Amino acid sequence: MSGQGIELKELHWMMDILQNIDVGLVVLDKRYTVQIWNGFMENHSGIPPEDARHRQIFELFPELPRDWFKNKVESVFLLNNRAFTIWEQRPHVFPFRNYRPITGTEELMFQNTTIIPLASVDGSVNHVCVIVYDLTDAAVSKKRLKNANTKLEILSRTDGLTQLNNRAFWEECLQTEFKRCGRTGTTSSVVMLDIDHFKHINDTHGHQAGDEVIRHTAALLRNTVRETDIAGRYGGEEFVAILIDTNVEGALVFGERLRRRAAAASVIYGGVDMRYTISLGVSANTGSRTHSDWLAQADQALYRAKQTGRNRACRAD
Ligand code: GH3
Ligand code: MG
Ligand code: MG
Repeated sequence: MSGQGIELKELHWMMDILQNIDVGLVVLDKRYTVQIWNGFMENHSGIPPEDARHRQIFELFPELPRDWFKNKVESVFLLNNRAFTIWEQRPHVFPFRNYRPITGTEELMFQNTTIIPLASVDGSVNHVCVIVYDLTDAAVSKKRLKNANTKLEILSRTDGLTQLNNRAFWEECLQTEFKRCGRTGTTSSVVMLDIDHFKHINDTHGHQAGDEVIRHTAALLRNTVRETDIAGRYGGEEFVAILIDTNVEGALVFGERLRRRAAAASVIYGGVDMRYTISLGVSANTGSRTHSDWLAQADQALYRAKQTGRNRACRAD
């Protein structure tokens, strides 16, 4: 075969490869008219090359952000340098539907694109090639990982039975709030509560009925605190709340309201109507040296509520 024959054959191969490669290739001239439109572009847009060629890219994709795209392409012409777009910043340039079986949850294909200058034989740059990469798999994996991490983070600070904050996370919040109060000179209060004679509930109605009472108390607490307050499950049938910007008198009013609600409620489980009461201790941050000290004061007040007959709220000395 002659040298020219081999070159022609190679050119033919090259054209075949470009046509079938799993990457989008579009050549545009300075008027944004399509010169080359490969198989990837045809398959994903449904526009065959004979319809795409000699038409403006904006005519083919009216939703293409014209000013932004022109800016990118003009910088390539001007600087004779590549330009890039990434899916994290702009999910796609061409709105192609996503047909992947695994990552089919996303409606549109995520894309990275590279725009490269194409020099003519005389060295002048009158065309650019837009290369489109399908990044859907990577984008979906990254999003899933992020979602999973968010869920894990929530799980790691949530109590499984009540969906309230768990003890470890709540104590972190207490520490943060204690520091905030110290900095701003404001007063907040802690409420600690414990279900009265809970062993008796468990012994009489069973552990699952006991769990139902715990869930009931958690719901009462959640519905009684303000949105900015921070409630948590401290242990078995012990609950806590930080009442933001609330002094000890306000906390006592809150505690009394919660106590009355618990005493008035009935929990029906397995056809049995259960009644229960709670005891509470409240303390303000003022006068505490540490956040543990603050909590210990509420605990002592709770102890006093138990000692003096239960079904009551006591304040710290
Ligand atoms: P008091 O009025 O002095 O608080 O009496 P009490 O019976 O409530 O005493 P205490 O607080 O010591 O008892 C708590 C009981 O709660 C002991 C434990 O078996 C039970 N408990 C702890 N965690 C759970 C739980 O998740 N579910 C159930 N059903 N019971 C629990
Ligand atoms: Mg207890
Ligand atoms: Mg108890």
